[in-house]
Amino acid sequence: SAKHNGRKQLNFFQSGMDGYASQRIEMENLLRNAVENGEFELHYQPQFDLHSGQLIGSEALLRWRRPGIGLVSPLQFIPLAEETGMIMPIGEWVLNEICTQSRAWLKKGLKPLRIAANLSARQFSCTNLNHNISTVLNEFNLEPEHLELELTESAAMQHVETSLKTMHALKQTGVNMSIDDFGTGYSSLNYLKQFPIDRLKIDQSFIADIDRTPNDAALVAAIISMARCMDLKVIAEGVETDEQLSFLRMHGCNEVQGYLMGRPLPAEQFGEYLAQV
Ligand code: C2E
Ligand code: MG
Ligand code: MG
Ligand code: MG
Repeated sequence: SAKHNGRKQLNFFQSGMDGYASQRIEMENLLRNAVENGEFELHYQPQFDLHSGQLIGSEALLRWRRPGIGLVSPLQFIPLAEETGMIMPIGEWVLNEICTQSRAWLKKGLKPLRIAANLSARQFSCTNLNHNISTVLNEFNLEPEHLELELTESAAMQHVETSLKTMHALKQTGVNMSIDDFGTGYSSLNYLKQFPIDRLKIDQSFIADIDRTPNDAALVAAIISMARCMDLKVIAEGVETDEQLSFLRMHGCNEVQGYLMGRPLPAEQFGEYLAQV
């Protein structure tokens, strides 16, 4: 009957809504458990000076090792973690883990290496950020210049006056700062030059098409010369080919990161790699 169908539809609709909401809640719970159960790990990718070829730092990249599923990319859970606020405990874990690892490598006699952490917009706007960073550096007795904070261009430009204040406060602690995924957002150059940052990271999408797309090549060259005028270092990410590397060298890019030089490695393997360089 019509009445029967109506109820059926209603039930179907409701269960659909429930399904969506409960999926989110389930995922949120999974993320929460992941922090508690230690299911996250950081992989480290080396960064090099393009002129000397020397190792100058690394970027810590988050992975979720889901039991029975395997490694999950941050692209698959960071957006939800941001929306739900779960990024706060996750981000705290990341900073703590970087410092723990850094201390462990120093204890093994390895040379101190700068490690970069990716900050989400939400972490960046947290009033405790500065305090948390100083606390964790103190706790592990680490030099601030061995930590770098990567903030995406879009996050930095979101509430730009506030960003400026936060960055200046962070700079006071002595940590390095970089703008990630540069070129994909809408930077106001007027603000960019006021940011107390150390480097720009050219987004990998521009590097990928350097050889094929003249516009991207022109843009990369322009970013490099602009960075030089602003007295900023510039690092290219996503470098995969020799052609890309020579283009970057020819245009005076300072630093490079990408599969061509080294993939992100689990901490233990990266430590073995560090012991050799
Ligand atoms: P990102 O910070 O721009 O990191 C660069 C991404 O490019 C990483 O992906 C890295 O593995 C990848 N990559 C490096 N070299 C190459 C290359 O030569 N070719 C290609 N195709 N890719 C390369 P991943 O590890 O999947 O991370 C994706 C994004 O997730 C990061 O982009 C970052 O925005 C975010 N993310 C990673 N870890 C964290 C974290 O601890 N906290 C937060 N908030 N976000 C994170
Ligand atoms: Mg990054
Ligand atoms: Mg990036
Ligand atoms: Mg990116």
